[in-house]
Amino acid sequence: MSGLFPRNVWDFVRSLGEGVGSEVRGWRFDFVGPRFRVRPSVSDVTSVCPTRRDVFLRRVGGLRFESESMVFGRLVHEAFLFPFRVGGEVSGLPFRFERYLKSLKVDWGVRRVLRSVFEKSLELYAISRVDCVPVSVEPYVPASPIGLSDHVRPDVLVGFIPVEVTTSFDVERKEMALAAYALAVEAWVGHPVDYGVVAQILFNGGVRVNWRVITIDDILRRKFLDLRDSVARMLEYREDPGVADNCPSSCPFRGVCHGNVSGRARV
Ligand code: SF4
Repeated sequence: MSGLFPRNVWDFVRSLGEGVGSEVRGWRFDFVGPRFRVRPSVSDVTSVCPTRRDVFLRRVGGLRFESESMVFGRLVHEAFLFPFRVGGEVSGLPFRFERYLKSLKVDWGVRRVLRSVFEKSLELYAISRVDCVPVSVEPYVPASPIGLSDHVRPDVLVGFIPVEVTTSFDVERKEMALAAYALAVEAWVGHPVDYGVVAQILFNGGVRVNWRVITIDDILRRKFLDLRDSVARMLEYREDPGVADNCPSSCPFRGVCHGNVSGRARV
């Protein structure tokens, strides 16, 4: 069995044993049901801002900004998912990817990076076709039963294992997202989801994927639910949470909160 992952990731999951014995399952609506009328999205709950002021500015203030690093991350994300999203014969995919690449307004350096990411992903795709493991790219999973937006969309589901693809070193936010996807899948199909995987794409010395298996235990589940409720409360009462003390440089709202424009409006 392989799917999207290399063999050693599966071996590691198997070595963790028979599940994590969680109580806070997605089908336990007494634990996970909505507490507020407003239902945030996963990206609202896991945003880069420590106070979630970016969510307030977007959803209450109607502002839309995207930083350069967010644009780059989105392009890498697309390049990585491309073979799994398009599907079909391996031999036909490079041509289709080149056509997609030509449609992007990016410089040659970014183009080269995206091509390397695609080639790495194509290797994984070729193996997954041999192993016939079900892989769904950005599937719609109903999420209103767990107090989130109508649907959530994990980057990938390998069987029932959610996978998040990232270029960021802030893996904690991705762990939160995995908890959300695990709860949503559990509420949807009634099948326990004890692990998720973060695929962290690194660029030093060529493109490399660092696979991290995350145990979705009750501590992580409760942490996610607490955050979900604090974001939902902020949106419901339209309360500005204020400027954070430690704003990450990647936040596209720095121009709004600190008056030094570094983001750009997204069209
Ligand atoms: S600049 Fe700081 S306070 Fe404002 S949204 Fe970004 S992280 Fe939050």
